[in-house]
Parts: sequence; structure tokens; C-alpha cells
Amino acid sequence: MPERSEERQGDQRVRYLEVALVLPVFGWLAWAIWRLPNGSIGWAWVFFTVTVIVVDLIPVPAWGGMQLSLSFPLLLGVSILYPPAVAGLAALAGSADPREIRRDIHPMLALWNRSQMAAAMILGSWVFHLVASPYSSWTTLLPATTLAAVVAYAVNTVLVALHASVEHRMSIEDVLAKMHGARPWEFLSSYLALGLLGAVIARFYTSEGAWSVIVFLAPLVFARQMYFRSRALTDQLEERNQLLAQQAARLEELLEKEHATVDELRELNRMKGEFVAVVSHELRTPVTALIGYAKTLRQPEFADDPMMRQEFLERMQRQGDRLLRLVENLLTAAKLESDEIRVVVARVLFEDLAAEVAEGLASEAERIKVDVPNDLPVMYTDRQLLSRIVSNLLDNALKYSPEGSPCELVARADGDHILFWVRDHGIGISEEQIGRIFDRFYQVDSSSTRRFRGAGLGLSMVRGLLDRLGGTIEVQSEPGTGSTFTVRIPVQAETSVS
Ligand code: ADP
Repeated sequence: MPERSEERQGDQRVRYLEVALVLPVFGWLAWAIWRLPNGSIGWAWVFFTVTVIVVDLIPVPAWGGMQLSLSFPLLLGVSILYPPAVAGLAALAGSADPREIRRDIHPMLALWNRSQMAAAMILGSWVFHLVASPYSSWTTLLPATTLAAVVAYAVNTVLVALHASVEHRMSIEDVLAKMHGARPWEFLSSYLALGLLGAVIARFYTSEGAWSVIVFLAPLVFARQMYFRSRALTDQLEERNQLLAQQAARLEELLEKEHATVDELRELNRMKGEFVAVVSHELRTPVTALIGYAKTLRQPEFADDPMMRQEFLERMQRQGDRLLRLVENLLTAAKLESDEIRVVVARVLFEDLAAEVAEGLASEAERIKVDVPNDLPVMYTDRQLLSRIVSNLLDNALKYSPEGSPCELVARADGDHILFWVRDHGIGISEEQIGRIFDRFYQVDSSSTRRFRGAGLGLSMVRGLLDRLGGTIEVQSEPGTGSTFTVRIPVQAETSVS
């Protein structure tokens, strides 16, 4: 509310200022015209006033630079040709503003605008007639016109600044700085040049008559319109150029992203190709072994020896288990990929699960040292998925450490989580590789001559499964010393995860 009333007060101050100019200007003009000799205001006055109105009403595009005012030289011409009162009346009647017709501005403001133009011309004309007459020689006419233009320009500028300073409650200096920016001299010189046109108009009129003024003005009006149009076009072009530059930058950004995606896809494709080769090899090895053992067993000297038969059957079972684990891993990885893994929550004792997984690793089982306390909290999670996690970590630990070296599976309670880790004393993983071992198809050594079997799927699958069960995995490793994979998994799996 206080702001509103302040605004209203500001409005009132502006109105007082307007009245303070409008009344004396109107009063003085009425008095001065009444005192003029009869016939001082004739057809010539009407001609100039109408020309000023026409020139003012021709629309020019809004542009924040200097106004190429053609009414200014015309009014200055009138100020040269006639006494101050006639010049003031022409400015008052002629300085039309299209906004007045559209009723976009307050009537008092319209009267102020006209009055300040009238005041500028009255003083300009008065100064001119002090030193020259319309019939003076060019050498007198031009300096006198320049003087009149400076006075009119100064009166105009001061009044406009005064109005703006009262309206926007700013100091006059600030308003002036805002009005003409850093180019006051440019403004003054352009007004002086326009003023000299006033001298030419006055001289044409006195020597050639009204038609010469029209012939002189028409190309000027045309040139002004052309100038504004080309300015508007330049502005538009600049705007478009900026837009185009922005779009080009955006396109470049997108292209870069596209390149990155293509590179990524290429790398993935290469890895997939490698993966197919690796998996085929991984499948062929146990199958070849199985066929070999089967063929051997068909020979009577082996089939009839119970010891031999037992030995070969065990080997066949080991190869079968290996094959089964690989196929199961492939299936789980495919399901993870297509988001088809279903979490089936059931009561699980980690202790039992650990023992079962260790046993499942058959011949290597004796290398695994299980340290799981029997008072761990009962888990409610997916038994099968958790077994897959533990068996993959144990399988890796056995695989990447020397034959016979022990691997540990240790578990501890950790609030509503269970913490377990698988430690080996094997080859370890270098720091650069650690960031990538959980990527799909990634193998530190994927060459065809590599020492270790595997398809590069285990760890990415472990991480995928842990995501489903709400767990996390961390790895600490040192090349040549061994690795520890630590898993933290909630006792109660989230059932909403599917
Ligand atoms: P892989 O089938 O090759 O074992 P994984 O996804 O299980 O695939 O492991 C990815 C890579 O991480 C392996 O190729 C191996 O180089 C490295 N890695 C995994 N576990 C161990 C470990 N316990 N010790 C050393 N390296 C390991």
C-alpha cells in the first residue's frame, strides 16, 4: 500500500510539473498572438503545420538510437521565417504524436510534449531573430540557424530530462546519461545538421515557394524510411546470425556426444565378438574332455577296472559341473540384461549356504577355509541368487591363485546387514584394472593364450545380482599378493525388487 501511494504522489508531482509548463506556454502564446499584427498567421503557417503533422505521423520503426526527426528542421524553418509566437503555435499544433491518437498517453503528458516543443521553438526563433532575418545572407543565416538549433536542442533536452527525473525519481545527470548514453556530442551534431536543413528549407520557401519545400522534403522522408528499414533488417540478420551460431554450437555438442556413443558401441561390439570366441572356447574344453573320458571308459581295460572307472566318472562329473556353472552364468547374465531376474525371498541361513557353495566346488573344496559364525541373523533373501554371488567370488579366488593355496570365506553380522568377504593369495589385480573388472565381458587377459578359463561375465553378474538384493561390493587387491572382495548385503531383501 505505501508503495502505491508513493507512486500516486510521484504521478501527482509529474502532473504539477506539466501544468507548470503548459499554462505559461499557452498563456504567453495567447497573449503574443493576440498582439501580432493581423494576417501574420496565414496559409503559409497552415502549410508548415500540416507538413510537420504528416512528417511526424509517418510511422518509423522503434529504435533506441537517435531519432532522425524531420519535424525539427521544418519547425526550425518556421522559427526562421516567422516571429517566435507563430513558430511556437506551429510547434504546439504540429508536434503530433501517434500515441495521442491511440490514447496511449495521458492527455496532460501530450500537452506537456507539445508545450515543451513550443517552448524550444519560441526560444530558438527569438534567438535567431536577435541576430538575423530570413533574408540575411548565407554567412549570417547559417550561424544564426546553428545558434537557434543549439538553443532549441538545449531547451528540449533540459525539459525532457526534467520530466523523466521527476517521473522516475532520478537525478537530472543520471537521466541525461541514460538519454544520450555516452554520445551527447553525436546527438548535438546530428541536431545541428538537422538545424541547417531548417535554413535550407527557409531559404527555399522565401525564394521558390511552398512546392520547393515539398520537393526537398519528399526524398528526405523516403531516405529516412529506407534507412530505418535497412536498420531493422540488419538487426534481424544479426539476431538470426546469433541464433544460427547457437544452433551450430548445439549441433557440434550433439555430434560430439554421438561420436562418443558410436565409440562406446564399437567397443561394446568388439567385446561382444571377443566374448563369443571366449565362450565357445570355454564350452568346447569341458565338452571335449567329457567326450574323451566317455570314449576311454568304453574301452574294456578301463571299464573293467573299478578304480579307473571311479576316477574317470569323478573327472566327468567335475567337467559337467564346470559346464553347468558356465551355462547357468550365461543364463543369469542374459536374464539380468533383459531385466527378467525375479527375486524369490525365503528364509536363508548364511552358514548353511556358505558350506553348500564350498562343497559344490568339488575337488577344490578343501582349499576353501570357511569362517562363518553360527549366530548370524537369519536372512530373508533369494537363496539361489546369493549362492550364485558367493560361488562366483569363490570360483574366481580359486582360479586366480596358485593351486593348493588357501582361500577364505569369512562372514560377520553388521547390524541389519551381513558382511562377508572372499580372500585369496593369488595374482591380484593392478590399480588400473580394478575400475573395469565389473564391466561386462571384461577380462584382464582375454588373449587366446591366456592362462585362466572364464568368459568375463562373473563379476558383472555378481554386481547385477547384488543390485537386486540391495547389496554392495568392494575390492581390495595388490598384484602378486592377492585380492579381497567384500560384500555387504541386507538381512532382509527388498521384496518389491523383481
Ligand atoms: P572371468 O570369467 O574372466 O573370471 P570375471 O568377471 O569373473 O570374469 O572377472 C573379470 C576379471 O577380473 C578377470 O578376467 C580377472 O582378470 C579379474 N579377477 C576377478 N577376480 C579376481 C581375483 N580373485 N584375483 C585376480 N583377478 C581377478
